[in-house]
Amino acid sequence: MFEALYKRLPICAQHLAVSAYGWHLQRLRYGGHFERRLVWWSKLQQLSREERDLLVTERLRNILGIAIQHTLYGRQLSERHALSPNDISHWTDVQKLPILEKDEVRANPDRFFNRALSPRQVFYDCTSGTTGSPLRIAVSVAGLRDCYAAMDVARGWAGIGRNARRATFSGKLTVPVEQSAPPFWRYNKPGRQMVFSVHHISPASVPYYCRRLNEHQPQDLDGFPSAIYSIARMSLAQSLPLPQPTVIRTWGEKLYDFQREIIERAFNAPVFDWYGVAENCCYAAQCQYGNYHVFEEFGIVEVLEGGKPVKVGEEGDIVATSLSNSAMSLIRYRVGDRAVLGPAECPCGNRSTILTDIIGRCDDMVILPNGCVVGNVLDLSIATFPQIAEAQVVQDRVDGIRVNVVPQGAFESHQQNALKAELRQRLGAAIEIELCVVKEISRTQAGKYKLVESSLSLEEHLAHRAGCVDN
Ligand SMILES: [Zn+2]
Repeated sequence: MFEALYKRLPICAQHLAVSAYGWHLQRLRYGGHFERRLVWWSKLQQLSREERDLLVTERLRNILGIAIQHTLYGRQLSERHALSPNDISHWTDVQKLPILEKDEVRANPDRFFNRALSPRQVFYDCTSGTTGSPLRIAVSVAGLRDCYAAMDVARGWAGIGRNARRATFSGKLTVPVEQSAPPFWRYNKPGRQMVFSVHHISPASVPYYCRRLNEHQPQDLDGFPSAIYSIARMSLAQSLPLPQPTVIRTWGEKLYDFQREIIERAFNAPVFDWYGVAENCCYAAQCQYGNYHVFEEFGIVEVLEGGKPVKVGEEGDIVATSLSNSAMSLIRYRVGDRAVLGPAECPCGNRSTILTDIIGRCDDMVILPNGCVVGNVLDLSIATFPQIAEAQVVQDRVDGIRVNVVPQGAFESHQQNALKAELRQRLGAAIEIELCVVKEISRTQAGKYKLVESSLSLEEHLAHRAGCVDN
């Protein structure tokens, strides 16, 4: 209802509405004991591994106590496994508990909610969900502030403060999709943040985006990597000047290497990728050495394959245990993303768990007729084609894919054939590949751009596959 009302407002009133909402978010995220928590989170980063182990263990005991006392799931867990917080002598004892699948939470989220919190201490939300069915979540206000304090620490690693001038490309529908002329942005004054629409980016509109970015001169450019990449790629192709922010922070989607390279080249600024999930149960951010440091006092992250922890350099499922969000018990929750476990130490001195790569969600993958799954299909393929502004693989059947391509200028038939050959190399001969030149790639309702749009049940397929993965 609010969205329908917002859409009818004149643009100047929409700017005011965005600012009012920005003010509300500032109070929610940075109010209360935020500053004190920020000091606490900053100090953690200098602790030794042993000191952090003690702290994480203590926080795990605390959150398990809350779960057992105030949630149905926690109570059932304690009964089935004769679990008491005092049985936890080291945080790795969490491995004795069962893994929690997303479907179990989706089926009955109430079992996981802490009903002892007052309405002022918690808010409820729905995530868009990769399978299309929404997931209800509860986040405590204290847990949210902890997350924003952790983000402030990570901003420090990237060399920027919270009050820097910001330009954001997120999926928020601040500009109605029906609007066909600029401005494709709205201003959040309290946050000093220009919020750009990701739904209106095209070779024709990109000059407007670049001009506005140059006027705003953001020090901190952040948002979905696919959108920032599109701006970068189209501006390079059209030789449009771009501002040089101090830092670019990507989040919300998988950041591919080819995207990072083009973004850094176009803006002449370093990219720091952040990883978090709507369920607010884990958070990791890149340091200047490119490693993702897990904020494990916020949420423990395990990387598991076949239910067992992987070795350094190996890939597995991210399984998270939320330690800061007392509103929802997510203990050993499989979040649906995969990661590569990093070494124990990083030159930056931070002794947290390290991930060296966050692999795309399962929905970034194509299923082949022989049952194999191929990830990052477009990753390498389109990197070598400057004629392509955007591309997306659509898979509706197991023996064929359609590749939608938004060209940058002419996209001759020999170039199309070369792209097909490139894809053929990655996917093999058994799958049909159809190439379609389109005007735009539609975003999901949440504004996200999926490299692979598949209607096949990949989750079900992955559950049954026999270890045949090619990345
Ligand atoms: Zn580091």
